[in-house]
Amino acid sequence: MGKVIGIDLGTTNSCVAVAENDQPVIIHNSEGERTTPSVVAFQKDGDPLVGRLAKRQAITNPANTVFATKRLIGRRFNSKEIELFKEKAPYNIVPGEKGNACIQIQGKVMTPSQISAYILKKLKQAAEDYLDEPVDEAVITVPAYFDDAQRQATILAGQEAGLKVKRIINEPTAAALAYGTKKDVNANIAVFDLGGGTFDITILKISSGVYEVLATSGDTFLGGEDFDERLINYLVNNFRNETGLDLRQDPMALQRLKEAAEHAKQELSSLDHCDINLPFITADESGPKHLKIDRLERETFVELCSDLFDALDEPVFKALDDAKLKPEDVHDIVLVGGMTRVPAVQAKVEQIFKKKPTKGVNPDEVVAAGACLQGAILSGEMKESILLDVTPLSMGIETTGGKFSVVIPRNTTVPTQESKIFETVENNQDFVRLSVFQGESPIASENRQLGEFFLEGLPRKAAGEVRVEVMFSLDADGVLKVTAKEISTGKQTQVRIEPPSN
Ligand code: AMP
Repeated sequence: MGKVIGIDLGTTNSCVAVAENDQPVIIHNSEGERTTPSVVAFQKDGDPLVGRLAKRQAITNPANTVFATKRLIGRRFNSKEIELFKEKAPYNIVPGEKGNACIQIQGKVMTPSQISAYILKKLKQAAEDYLDEPVDEAVITVPAYFDDAQRQATILAGQEAGLKVKRIINEPTAAALAYGTKKDVNANIAVFDLGGGTFDITILKISSGVYEVLATSGDTFLGGEDFDERLINYLVNNFRNETGLDLRQDPMALQRLKEAAEHAKQELSSLDHCDINLPFITADESGPKHLKIDRLERETFVELCSDLFDALDEPVFKALDDAKLKPEDVHDIVLVGGMTRVPAVQAKVEQIFKKKPTKGVNPDEVVAAGACLQGAILSGEMKESILLDVTPLSMGIETTGGKFSVVIPRNTTVPTQESKIFETVENNQDFVRLSVFQGESPIASENRQLGEFFLEGLPRKAAGEVRVEVMFSLDADGVLKVTAKEISTGKQTQVRIEPPSN
């Protein structure tokens, strides 16, 4: 059996690893880098560029340079998140055939899965070059908070890249695996993951090789880009006050600002102030204009983002509550994601847990490291560790009056099967329509609709006399299958909740 590689398909950067002698090895890409920017660009001739090369030409080719596809994957075009993201994405986001968010480049509509596949192909190639053998199988990580559609779209991306996705695992679980294997610990740990686009907090109990996720929470729309955006706003406003010019109207200037803002944010992780210098950022009748900030204090950055830092509290306390633990019951905190290098983020962690997070795991690589260890476990190369993951969101169906009836509550260990019995609500009702949702609102329509199906040919009886058992099965990837059975006849219908459109 060939190697099963581990891939962290990140919003900003991706990373690939393989286990050798039970140890994770991070694989360099063809540019010699340990992580690959999750950026895909199309040149005039339509040829794709991936990673550093794509990122480098973003300034001159913003409309054909796709970044942060992870924010789009498996999402509906008309969702609130896409609405917000569309405003700042320099590339064109359009509805796909089935209403999912897609990307239009040079007149061609592509799914986020297809774009992600370019990144995965590059990582697959890097692994093949390193191992000097074909690689067909991978474990790919996703944020714990990804819903069914987002997971399925990630599996599709793997398939598009020619990879059999052996398992989808949650990023924090992967990080815990990498941490636990290294230290052979028995402890309650928190994985605090703030990446480019998402925030995840997961509380796990590790004991004798069993990794049990006690609770997970997060925010799929809180990440490094939001912090960059605050700095961009600050720079745009400053520049407007000084010159009366709006840089937001100039895509090329905006792209340069975006890079400068991210760079400044990163510098402020190790320095207490930095300069921003963007000569010839734009021009008007009077000539070229330069943007220059002589001293941007770390404190200013922290102030600009204070509500974003505070937004980290709620998911953490929710996860602790769900895990029935107090902050002091957590023995160690593993930091994941480049944003955890920000001192104010580390201070926030310390403020919540009353202890310093663990050092010694690389926040950019720990997820891929864990994914490849899981790959080695699945291929039988490595001793079994048992991952008991949980479903991050409740799943259920819509009942009368648009209410949401939960079948599998959030934080249930997967794989799992749960069923619930529903009765007909009208006389002579010979079919039921089942609408499956995922989320926490008691009102079905406020949650994410995963799919819809019908159970037909029911015996015509009085309301309430026909009973239908709805069974939800969640596999280890967190992907859902639903079956419904009319109890008296045993008539059954099975539906695999359809992946998002291509
Ligand atoms: P990830 O999605 O884990 O690759 O995280 C990427 C995010 O981390 C981006 O928003 C980066 O700007 C940010 N990041 C990377 N390195 C640093 C750093 N040294 N200081 C602050 N943010 C960083």
